Amino acid sequence: MNSFAYTRVTEVAEAIEAISSDPSARFIAGGTNLLDLMKERVEQPGQLVDITHLPLAEIEVTAHGGLRLGALATNTEVAYHTLVERRYPLLSKAILAGASAQLRNMASVGGNLLQRTRCMYFYDWAARCNKRAPGTGCSAIEGVNRAHAILGTSEHCIATHPSDMCVALAALDALVLVTGPRGERSIPFGDFHRLPGNTPEIDTALGREELILAVELPSDGFAAHHAYVKLRERASYAFALVSVAVALRLEEGSIAEARIALGGVAHKPWRDRQVEALLRERPAIQESYRNAAESMLHDARGFGHNDFKIELAKRAIVRALAQAAGAEVSR
Ligand code: SF4
Repeated sequence: MNSFAYTRVTEVAEAIEAISSDPSARFIAGGTNLLDLMKERVEQPGQLVDITHLPLAEIEVTAHGGLRLGALATNTEVAYHTLVERRYPLLSKAILAGASAQLRNMASVGGNLLQRTRCMYFYDWAARCNKRAPGTGCSAIEGVNRAHAILGTSEHCIATHPSDMCVALAALDALVLVTGPRGERSIPFGDFHRLPGNTPEIDTALGREELILAVELPSDGFAAHHAYVKLRERASYAFALVSVAVALRLEEGSIAEARIALGGVAHKPWRDRQVEALLRERPAIQESYRNAAESMLHDARGFGHNDFKIELAKRAIVRALAQAAGAEVSR
């Protein structure tokens, strides 16, 4: 690990000033991903700006009846918060499907959004990696790519976004509230993470000098009909091969509204609003679910080791839709 300066800030304006005045500075909160990246020299900040003493840990009801999750609220605090469990159980389940209890105690809401891919070549200096070193190539495309993306890939990167929490936040249409030298702005969750395209080194729409203040949930948490299905290599503490967050509104056996977000398959939580529209006014039955799954994976492409993810994702979508609707899945 390289040497770095350490600064602790207690006000948001102070944090923005610290990051803006030093191009080598990085914010640190729980550090559950950044410290690993520093140990592997993927990240080599000249200064760490400790934001853990900023007043950004509150979880509170918004004026519109939604819920504001402060950027420094821990994953544990969010997952077990009474209002999250009661009104946004999809979010609670997704968070608890991720990492370990110890990591969830340290990891923050803001850090969860900003965690970087777990592509093994990204962490391996002997490998070519456009995300770590732009222009060097992508070792995963011809390499071991069992965990890699099948949707939204580019010739430059096939990495996946690793978060479980973000899959639920995508399905719930959350907003990300940020601030920076030019003031505050909000970013719709679907626009926060990027596809790799020609610039896989850029993961999100957040500017380098911007700070996440909070994530805001709309008032409708789809508590009555939701499901989070996560499929992984082992039953505990592993990143998703495929995960599915489903939120449904049902009216007399028909689907009035459907949200489907996929994890483990793309560079960002993956939604397809056209597929969701196809489900509208369809009966909540297996045939509707299978049609949606086929449509959602229509453009999927495997890279050899990860070909199995295409059928796995379809089955996970069917299962999640059925679970959300409260039905058994026929095999
Ligand atoms: Fe790097 Fe992306 Fe290729 Fe992985 S998939 S080696 S992160 S460029």
